[in-house]
Amino acid sequence: AKANGKASYQFFRPQLSQNLVIKLNNEQSLREAIDGNEFVLYYQPRVDAASGELRSLEALVRWIHPVRGLIQPDEFIPLAEKTGLIVKLGELVIEKACAQLALWKQQGVPLVPVSVNVSSPQFNQGNFDAIFESHLIEHGIDPSFVEIELTESCMMGEDQAIFSQLAALKSLGVKLLLDDFGTGYSSLSQLQRLDLDILKVDRAFTAKLGESKEGEVFFMAIISMAHVLNMRVVAEGVETVEQLHILQALSCNEIQGYYISRPVPANEIERLMHKRFLF
Ligand code: C2E
Ligand code: CA
Ligand code: CA
Ligand code: CA
Repeated sequence: AKANGKASYQFFRPQLSQNLVIKLNNEQSLREAIDGNEFVLYYQPRVDAASGELRSLEALVRWIHPVRGLIQPDEFIPLAEKTGLIVKLGELVIEKACAQLALWKQQGVPLVPVSVNVSSPQFNQGNFDAIFESHLIEHGIDPSFVEIELTESCMMGEDQAIFSQLAALKSLGVKLLLDDFGTGYSSLSQLQRLDLDILKVDRAFTAKLGESKEGEVFFMAIISMAHVLNMRVVAEGVETVEQLHILQALSCNEIQGYYISRPVPANEIERLMHKRFLF
């Protein structure tokens, strides 16, 4: 047993330190990418489910790596969250979204609100509301043209600090959206306390539409609850016309997904902003 233990120890140790080196390298390169401004925003439309009219654009970050090219957020957002680098990266995203809105406004592109994804560590310093507002002011952006996409992890526990930062943003006129709804454990009272404007149902539920009654029943319950609480419902991950038709029948307010458009760079989204009705 002792010999085995030693063997596995010898086998395991170099493996561990190698992983650590890879992790540190990644963290270091992510840090350098933030300092070197290697990120761009893609935008995905969200449209009215009944009319197809463009309602909002979700800003989704991409890393343009000098060697590897375009890197999707699933490859670096989790690391950014774990290391705290998301605070700096998140502020970069807010700054870019505001700068883009200001540019579109200056160019006379018909504006719709832009939503940005925010991770819970971004609230840890307690001044997220002030940082956000300073970028709005710097670029002359009306707060009603930005929305914040939160996940349920932002609302875990009784963190009063997060609630007061969100309340400050709400009083400016910024809209709050709960993302990936249905995957967490929020209670109705937590949702009410946050004073959310929009529930975005996770695409796992959209994928079930048309395949079983389960997805439809879930949407039906969520939509009736949300409407009583004065919230709008967005279905994400809509890929087929069948899914759209079911959601229309259920009075879902808005949809987002590949059926309308994938996330695309700013110059490609401008064409859709001029077109306005996307189906
Ligand atoms: P999310 O916020 O849930 O964003 C939606 C994701 O679903 C996007 O992936 C989008 O490309 C994808 N998607 C949209 N429509 C469809 C569809 O019809 N079918 C399928 N299969 N997928 C669809 P993306 O852009 O790779 O982003 C992944 C996640 O990375 C986001 O999930 C979000 O959690 C995170 N993320 C992206 N940008 C940011 C950011 O600026 N800050 C933070 N904190 N997180 C971000
Ligand atoms: Ca989102
Ligand atoms: Ca989502
Ligand atoms: Ca997601």
